[in-house]
Amino acid sequence: MTFNYKDIRKDFPILDQKVNNRPWIYFDNAATSQRPLVVVEKIHEFSLQTNANIHRGTHFHAIKTTEAYENARDIVKEFLHAKEREEIIFTHGTTESINLVARSFCERFLSEGDEIIVTEMEHHANIVPWQMACERHHAKLKVLPFADNGNLETDLLESLISSRTKILAIAHVSNTLGTVNPIKEIIRIAHNHNIPVLVDGAQSVPHITIDVQDLDCDFFAFSGHKIYGPTGIGVLYGKRAWLDKMPPFLGGGEMIDKVTFEKTTFNELPHKFEAGTPHYVGAIGLGSAIEYIRKIGLENIAAYEHQLLTYASDKMKELGGMKFFGESPNKTGVICFQLDQIHPFDLGTLLDQLGIAVRTGRLCADPVMDHYEVTAMTRASFSFYNTMEEIDRFIDSLIRIQKMF
Ligand code: PLP
Repeated sequence: MTFNYKDIRKDFPILDQKVNNRPWIYFDNAATSQRPLVVVEKIHEFSLQTNANIHRGTHFHAIKTTEAYENARDIVKEFLHAKEREEIIFTHGTTESINLVARSFCERFLSEGDEIIVTEMEHHANIVPWQMACERHHAKLKVLPFADNGNLETDLLESLISSRTKILAIAHVSNTLGTVNPIKEIIRIAHNHNIPVLVDGAQSVPHITIDVQDLDCDFFAFSGHKIYGPTGIGVLYGKRAWLDKMPPFLGGGEMIDKVTFEKTTFNELPHKFEAGTPHYVGAIGLGSAIEYIRKIGLENIAAYEHQLLTYASDKMKELGGMKFFGESPNKTGVICFQLDQIHPFDLGTLLDQLGIAVRTGRLCADPVMDHYEVTAMTRASFSFYNTMEEIDRFIDSLIRIQKMF
């Protein structure tokens, strides 16, 4: 398939609608992406034709559903270029994937006085689980700061690392600043000190080709709904060497080997970490979303989104009173900004009245708000189904709102 956004729009019929009597413009892609027809149809067809609980039955539909679910695991394994399919664990999303590691890894490896490093630009999902783990184990959370331009202060990392550092958790791409962090370099530094690294890939998987073996990350987390798949499904990749040593996260069916009232033994990977009936329909939908974007090509997607980003940033700069948050030269199609003194909630509401969906508020990143000493931001985030014409209309709308104030 060659990249032609006009063909691509046909894959996303949801975009072809009016909101407040205007053609709808969806610039909230960093919050969740829209699903292409193939994914919707796959889920629909599957639900109409095949359904039975997985891994437990010997009957026709149980076997077919299990095969489809395990096939989705193979698709994810290929997509992340993991070494083994057992290193792919289905979760409900990035948040659960991080919580799994924060709970299970820390139960085994974190002791009183130990330290965990996160960065100042993390989404709350990559702060709070670690903070909770630190409280449980009387450990300390350390924070790698970022500079005003949105780049991490990677030079300071060595000074934060100590003999007590047990894990480093970092976003591949910031959901507010859009910065693509130099994670390969950061992983290399951490590994020099034998410190494992969890990468929060929620904002990178839709835009960047991931090779977990090349990155050499120890854990990698992402969500289906940010990569054109369903909600309620996500992935945790973990190196077998770690996953084997970590205790289960949730207890219940599927994750066990043998249960007696005296003692329970646990299942092999990946089932050890997949307690209960998994969201197999979601996993199958995610597999289909990954196949869809692989056909288009992540390089094509990234190149086009970069054009959208450059076009929008240049036009926005021409407006007086525009302040950007996060101006790293290496960023994805995310623009956080403040226009004059217009409160983001007012701006978001007025844009919505003009048919344009953007994100406003604290963006699940309070420390980023604190860094810039603001209480809220407005975020426009682009996807490969957006167009230059939509950006033109966005700019016209900003000018119109600016004049109103
Ligand atoms: N990490 C980052 C960088 C995010 O942008 C998000 C969601 O916006 C999350 C984690 C949490 O993802 P989810 O809500 O799908 O679990």
